[in-house]
Amino acid sequence: MAINASLLAPMEKLAFGGTRAMLRRSPRIFADLGLRLNPERGSLLLAWSMKMMEQQEELAKIMTAEQGKPLTESRGEIAYAASFLQWFAEEGRRILGDVIPSPYKDRQMFAMKFPIGVAGLITPWNFPSAMITRKAGAALAAGCTCVVKPAEDTPLSALALAAIAEEVGVPRGVFNVVTGSRETTPEIGKLLCEHPNVGVLSFTGSTEVGKILYKQCASGVKRLALELGGNAPFIVFNSASVSKAVQSAMASKFRNMGQTCVCANRFLVQEGIHDEFVSRLKEAMVKELVLGDGLNSGVTQGPLVNQQQINRIDELVRDAVSRGAKLVMGGKKAEDLGPLYFEPTLLVDVKTEMPCFQEEQFGPVVTIVKFKTEEEALKIANKSRRGLSGYIFSQDIKQVFRVVKKLEVGILGANEALLSSCEAPFGGVKESGIGREGSHFGIEEYLEVKYVCIDTL
Ligand code: ADP
Repeated sequence: MAINASLLAPMEKLAFGGTRAMLRRSPRIFADLGLRLNPERGSLLLAWSMKMMEQQEELAKIMTAEQGKPLTESRGEIAYAASFLQWFAEEGRRILGDVIPSPYKDRQMFAMKFPIGVAGLITPWNFPSAMITRKAGAALAAGCTCVVKPAEDTPLSALALAAIAEEVGVPRGVFNVVTGSRETTPEIGKLLCEHPNVGVLSFTGSTEVGKILYKQCASGVKRLALELGGNAPFIVFNSASVSKAVQSAMASKFRNMGQTCVCANRFLVQEGIHDEFVSRLKEAMVKELVLGDGLNSGVTQGPLVNQQQINRIDELVRDAVSRGAKLVMGGKKAEDLGPLYFEPTLLVDVKTEMPCFQEEQFGPVVTIVKFKTEEEALKIANKSRRGLSGYIFSQDIKQVFRVVKKLEVGILGANEALLSSCEAPFGGVKESGIGREGSHFGIEEYLEVKYVCIDTL
């Protein structure tokens, strides 16, 4: 496979030990480099975004090679990642404060916004570019500098982004990447949480690691933004359009082989529509899903990210079947293709207490529970302590509004499952996170409000 090596060459790969020096060297905010004006920062972000799109094919190949998702999805992610840089390039010009009507004759009051300091950004492997730009675009537009710690499985996509940033003139020290192994990562994370120059720590990853970082940030009362795991309910009511529900199930469940935090995880299908939904979903899975090397055209399902992940999925499926779930299709590793391939799997007669339903799977497995009433579906859906995304399918508008109000999630799709966009706020409730990314909310994580009162007499 041809990867443009020059894309990676200019970026020095920093071994652990570099983080502390990097934080010491790093200007705290963009303004320390003389780039005070929002339009100047915006121009750099825009140039960076455009250059990413010029290099889309190479960046996508790097991503597929290190992460496994099919090339068409990698191309899509590069465009999605670039869109955040463009969005925040524009948003930076709208960091508005308030002129507060003063209750006093002799004083004028203001709320001004300032960059919070170095942003420590820890990102996952499932979206190796977009999770970086969604954070870094906002941080840089706000006027912060940042230190990114990408996932151990996907450092090259991060380093390629840094190379492009450098190429378009982002000053050295503004966008830093520090890579780490599984052994060194906890120490790097601790330093980013505790170093006094770091103003905010933004993390996307598992709830377990998020909780560690939350604790570590407590000692310095550090601002924290967390995008953690989900356990998305996908509720199909009797009144749903089956074709729309099936099409959305395919799009939501099988993107990135089921390895996204907003993938449908808990399918709840009402009894009146259950059998038809199952048979049409099976038909679509057989027809549309092609397992293989993500670089080959036509492939829709690549390998899972690593051995640990495929073993987990294998175990969850075996466990469910041993407890009485019925396998409609798939159910095992596709070892003839390689060690990391898992067959797209459809399980029915799943019970809500089964681990495959309770835990976020991160794999290509549909687990279906049949329900009777709306109240029952909501009760099951809201029982989880996770609340990132949820999907509902119903053509009864009153039901849609009722369920929209009651479903405890930060992101909700009603008769739609592809929701992510730079314009929209992304984030969860309960143990799925703190704060929102993207949209006009996303930049606030990197800003501090200063109340200023000036004697005017
Ligand atoms: P996943 O289970 O999806 O791999 P993780 O939460 O383990 O998610 O990983 C997400 C990111 O968090 C990765 O960049 C990983 O290196 C990092 N990470 C893992 N453990 C720690 C830790 N103890 N401190 C800081 N970062 C960590």
